[in-house]
Amino acid sequence: MPNPKIVILGTGGTIAGEAAESTQGVGYRAGQISVQGLIAAVPDLPRIAAGCTGAVLDAVQLAQVDSKDMDWRVWRTLLKATAQALDDADIQALVITHGTDTLEETAWLLQVVLQPGKPVVLTCAMRPATSLQADGPQNLRDAVAVAAAGRCGVWVAAAGEVHAARQVLKAHPYRLNAMHSYEGGPCAYVEEGRVRWVVTPATACSAWPQADLQALLGRGELPWVEVLQSGAVQSARAVNALVAAGVQGLVVAGTGNATVHQQLLQALLQARERGVMVWCTTRCLEGQAVGQSIDRGGPAADDVGETCLMDEINVQLCKAADAQALDCVLLAPSKARVAMMLQLARNS
Ligand code: ASP
Repeated sequence: MPNPKIVILGTGGTIAGEAAESTQGVGYRAGQISVQGLIAAVPDLPRIAAGCTGAVLDAVQLAQVDSKDMDWRVWRTLLKATAQALDDADIQALVITHGTDTLEETAWLLQVVLQPGKPVVLTCAMRPATSLQADGPQNLRDAVAVAAAGRCGVWVAAAGEVHAARQVLKAHPYRLNAMHSYEGGPCAYVEEGRVRWVVTPATACSAWPQADLQALLGRGELPWVEVLQSGAVQSARAVNALVAAGVQGLVVAGTGNATVHQQLLQALLQARERGVMVWCTTRCLEGQAVGQSIDRGGPAADDVGETCLMDEINVQLCKAADAQALDCVLLAPSKARVAMMLQLARNS
């Protein structure tokens, strides 16, 4: 029996970034150093990977992008590589090096579509590899420790913390612990190569059926979905312009308890009548929309995803939405957008 493998997939980001000076923490170029180079910066990485199963490391460079520019081409390559690795009995776990800017979206994409039955651990850095304060090597070491620890699902390991794909958001543009779990805090901490879990895992949903995954991977692009924010001094012009331009879905980052400005409401309802998918979530950084439950004629109203907790405006917006949409009401706007792109892709 060959030793199991932990495979590190490189996609770029600041963790692979290079600056002209070691004192430079901004103004560097992301996605310059190879995944092999990242591994070489952590002397005992093979020992951490070996854990208690004797796993060996392997690495594949999938892309070299600044994740602010993440696109469907890279996502598709990553989805395909991750799906193959999950099917490969010789692979025990995956680690993905990634930029912080869209990490939360990629993590959520992988979780929603693949529901991995193995650990898939994304990691990143806030300082380039050339920095005096480079955080990438420690983050990579921690990510491999999480991968070796064997808890299935998509995780983000950064700054000694482990976040679940659903909760993690980038909360700061500069500090080293920029990744944050909304809310409830991290799921685990990594201390000297040991993972200390502080939450029990949520029950897993099922992965997309093979046929749906293949159809997704065969797409040239994802459906067009935009996030709109509701706030003071709002007009319907952005909604109308997007609808006229052919947008397929709108996620509204609503005020407070997922409420929307009355100037937006009619335009959103009209957009829905024209076949545009519309969801409303909250722009608040913590918590999720809370309110009254809607009788949707489905299972118990207290089930997660069946309880739509919001005011009258959102009752109108959500009444016709399906269970997945209702669950997305509870997501941060960036993740609701990913979920909507996936849902529209699956429906078409
Ligand atoms: N712009 C970089 C990226 O997302 C930022 C980072 O990695 O922290 O790739």
